[in-house]
Amino acid sequence: MNTAFEKLEYIFRKGKNLSQKDLVSLFDAAGIPQESCWHAVYKIIFDTKINLNSNLYGEITKSQLKPIMKKALKNAQKAIFTEEALLSLIKDYNTISFSVYNSQLTDILNELDNLTNEFQSMSAIRQQKVEDLETEAILAIKSNLSIEDKIKLIKYKFKETINMFQQDILKLDQMNNTDHLTTLYNRRFFDEQLKTEVTQALKEKTWLNLLMIDIDDFKLFNDTYGHVVGDQALKTIAKNIQLVCHDESRKTRIAFFPTRYGGEEFAVILPAISENKVFKIAELILTKTSNYSFIIRNKKGKIKYKDLNLTVSIGIAALNHMDDKKRGIKALIKNADAAMYDAKKAGKNCIKEIDL
Ligand code: GH3
Ligand code: MG
Ligand code: MG
Repeated sequence: MNTAFEKLEYIFRKGKNLSQKDLVSLFDAAGIPQESCWHAVYKIIFDTKINLNSNLYGEITKSQLKPIMKKALKNAQKAIFTEEALLSLIKDYNTISFSVYNSQLTDILNELDNLTNEFQSMSAIRQQKVEDLETEAILAIKSNLSIEDKIKLIKYKFKETINMFQQDILKLDQMNNTDHLTTLYNRRFFDEQLKTEVTQALKEKTWLNLLMIDIDDFKLFNDTYGHVVGDQALKTIAKNIQLVCHDESRKTRIAFFPTRYGGEEFAVILPAISENKVFKIAELILTKTSNYSFIIRNKKGKIKYKDLNLTVSIGIAALNHMDDKKRGIKALIKNADAAMYDAKKAGKNCIKEIDL
């Protein structure tokens, strides 16, 4: 299995509303023979949150699926595991309703790309530094300095190089935990941190809350003003969430963890603060977002649109101390998500909580 497949499988692992049985009947309906490769296609494309009858992202009809399934099979027969082929499949799906997965996939691929580039350029620079160190050490030995001074000089040069390597590690570690578009924490960091916080909260019997924040009608915003403007708006909303968390962290002296959970969805881990305080933070995020006026300029800087507003829907869930660690983590995410969808159903731009 190559890495592109593994990456995709990782992304699409969540949710399996479309059963294998449903899929088989779909293939039959599309007149596609049941060959072994479609198991791969199934894994790649259908391990998503698709529910054919009522999915969150709009209805998908069998007739819409047919041509895509045919193309999927054709691609599978050719080279399903090449990244290009997979992306082109995802792009097709995007035209129906999968833009969020596409953008998650693109995010992850971009993130990997950034990390690899950064790492490669760092190694090239550091390789040169190690070569310089060798030359400098030889020069120091050949110099007229006393033995003590020679040792001091060489030690100093080594220390300097080691410091650089340590900084590299810190930087890579930070990049590894950060979403490159918004600079919030990324999903990888979130998953790890949530485990740590749940363990801690269960042990210390302290509060732990999770906010799930989703931008309202963002597809429409993208469709109206374009993806580049959408990215800018995403960054601004993320910045506002970060600012609220930063301010409140400073006041309470507790670290909060604002995360880009995926696409246009954010999550914030809020340890050790009361329900009231959690609600206040959610309200601050809600009002800061809705009060923000976006201005869109053209390339020459001339204002094209102004006074545009975006809103968010927020779900809040609290850790149930009767749960063990695994169940606690699962329930927190599930409940915060459910609360967020309640907020959508209630008309968006509002906050909902799940009562334990
Ligand atoms: P709802 O109020 O129900 O959340 O509606 P919505 O339109 O926000 O939700 P939907 O899930 O239909 O669409 C989400 C959109 O978010 C579609 C996708 O293009 C956009 N999106 C996700 N990630 C990014 C991104 O990184 N950049 C941009 N510009 N758009 C993104
Ligand atoms: Mg949305
Ligand atoms: Mg969403």
